[in-house]
Amino acid sequence: MIMNPIDDWRRQGQETFLKGVTLIHRSYRQHPSNPKWDHDHCEFCGTKFQLEKDHNQAQEAYATDDDSHWVCPTCFEDFKHEFGWIVQESPPDTPPPLGE
Ligand SMILES: [Zn+2]
Repeated sequence: MIMNPIDDWRRQGQETFLKGVTLIHRSYRQHPSNPKWDHDHCEFCGTKFQLEKDHNQAQEAYATDDDSHWVCPTCFEDFKHEFGWIVQESPPDTPPPLGE
């Protein structure tokens, strides 16, 4: 198993809220309780997830089941073994909101 260095710059104490949680593999979508919030950041590297006008451009991401925390695919690969995430595919009947 390949572990990231203990001093990896992306480490910011995420294990307190992301260790062993279930992550949903889905396109980025707006947090349902924050309709005015149009972006989020990767919990590790800070990559910005933003809603796109063109729905086909939606960004791939991994979200906690309440959409409150987002992880980009790169960080997901780098930390998945260490954090022991349980991954679920987004159900096909729940596409991201279309905006309007
Ligand atoms: Zn990231």
